[in-house]
This record gives sequence, C-alpha cells and structure tokens, in this order.
Amino acid sequence: MIFKPPTVAEKIRAIGDTSGLPEVLRKALEPGDDFEPISSPKPGDWLAEHHESGQSFDEFLRSKPNRPDKKRGKIYLQPLGEFPKGKIPLVQTLKEFATVYFFMPVDVLPSLVLSEHNITTRINQFTRNQQILAGDVLAILQKNVPADAFCVLAITMEDLYPAPSWNFVFGQALLRGRVGVYSFARYDPAFYGEKRGKDYEGPRSAGTQKLILRRSYKILAHETGHMFGLTHCIYFDCVLNGSNHLAESDARPSHLCPVCLRKLQHSIGFDVVSRYGNLLHFYKKVGFDDEAKWVTKRLKWILPAEAARAIIEEKSTD
Ligand SMILES: [Zn+2]
Ligand SMILES: [Zn+2]
Repeated sequence: MIFKPPTVAEKIRAIGDTSGLPEVLRKALEPGDDFEPISSPKPGDWLAEHHESGQSFDEFLRSKPNRPDKKRGKIYLQPLGEFPKGKIPLVQTLKEFATVYFFMPVDVLPSLVLSEHNITTRINQFTRNQQILAGDVLAILQKNVPADAFCVLAITMEDLYPAPSWNFVFGQALLRGRVGVYSFARYDPAFYGEKRGKDYEGPRSAGTQKLILRRSYKILAHETGHMFGLTHCIYFDCVLNGSNHLAESDARPSHLCPVCLRKLQHSIGFDVVSRYGNLLHFYKKVGFDDEAKWVTKRLKWILPAEAARAIIEEKSTD
C-alpha cells in the first residue's frame, strides 16, 4: 500500500464548490502558494503505515459530525494530574491558544487528582516511566461532561497508553462522546533522556520551552480538530496530517489547509479574517515568528492590500 499524493484536481475537488460563498471566504479557501503539498511518507511515517483515504469537505458534511450550538458551545480543558511549573505549557496559554484557534469560548475545569480516581497504570518497559490507561480517563470524563460543553479535552503530563499491547499513545478521543485526552509528556526532550535525573527536574531553556509549547499547540489543534469530526488530512501539509512519531509531528505546520479550514469554518461559523487576525496577535505575543509570518502572508492573499494592512497593523499595536 503506497500513498500517492493527491493531484491538484483532487485537492480542488476536496475543497469543494466555493462559488456560492462570500468573496472573502472563497478567497481564503483558494490555496494560492501558501500551502505546501503533503510530503511522500518515509519508512515509519504515518502514511507509510496507515491507509488514509482522506475526507473531502462534502464527505465531512455527509458524516454529520457534532457541531457546536447555543446549548453546547464551549470547549473545556481538563487538567489531569500535576503540571509542574517551568517545564510545561501553562494551562492558561493553552486556553488562550484554543480560544483564538477555534474562535470559541474555552474554559478550564478544576484539576483532576490522579490518586482520587480509579485509573489503571503501568510502568513502560522501555522508558521506565509511569503510564496511565487512556480509556480509563475517557470513562471518567464522560461521566462529567458539563451541559454546555461542545467537548472536554483532558490534558496531562502523564504518559498514556491505549491498550496493553501498545507502547504509548499521544492522545485518544471518543468523537461522538465529546471527550478526549492528550499527553504532553513526550514533548519534553528530557522524557527521552536521563529519567527523573537532575536535568529532568530543572527548569527548561527558553528554546526548549518554545519547542514544547509549539508541540502542545499543534496537538491541541489537531486533536480538537478531530472532535469536530475532521479526519486525517492527506491533501496538503496541514495540522491535521497523521503522525507516527515526534519528528513527523514537528514537521507538520500549525495551520489548517483549505480543506480542513473549510470544515472547521462551516462547523463553527467564524469569520476567517477575524480568526487570522486574532491568531496573528497571539503568535506575535508568544514570539512564534514563523506562524505570524505565515498568517500575515495569508491575510495579504485574502484581502486587498489596504484592508490587510489595517488588520496586520491594528493587531500588532495591541
Ligand atoms: Zn489524529
Ligand atoms: Zn488539511
């Protein structure tokens, strides 16, 4: 089974007919030259090991995914276990990122203390780190979904595994059940080094912090995207590309390709320009220069020069 990158015609078909859409949205869904083609998988990569047939916008609509509405319109983040200061993404910045990325209200639930719940654990034979069984977490979350939740995303620094035969998993979700759990444990380079040694306990350098943060934002965008019914993307380089390992996750961008953007926009109904404006502001604030540059370029593609400049400048003076 060899993955063949889609042709231009296949990509256009996946985006679907945009002729009836408002001008700005139509333009935002035109790829231009801002989206790299998906790379051919190398051995060990996701697409070398998993068959993905892709999900066009029309197929997405036919799948009748959950959509946020007046009653269930909030994304909840559920911290699980400890978040030691200085080496992890602070929950507050994750909340801020999710708010701008999904253009929806996001709230943080009070932390769940691991020892207060019946969660199966084991020691991983390769890393010697403790792992928790993802399914047990999902079962607990499902019992406590707030009435106004579109979805609840548990975030944890504990390493996860989905079943005894698996080594680990970055995250797991029940799409219809509106719950998911994602681990940031493996995003810290120290996870793979001297376990629980001096370095593991110490504060992280600015560069490492940024790396962990970028990885965390991307998994949050990716996994929350699944909660909206988006399956893995095979059309462009995209935050929704599947990933088998950390190098592959690091290679994928933070943005949504036009196919995935259209799905999310349809589901949430946001104004694409306002969303990009907020994202630009956020990326500048956290010092994500590459992302800020990409969004700026995209705004210039979507809008006439004058209008684009107004948004780019307005957001940078705040
Ligand atoms: Zn995924
Ligand atoms: Zn995509």
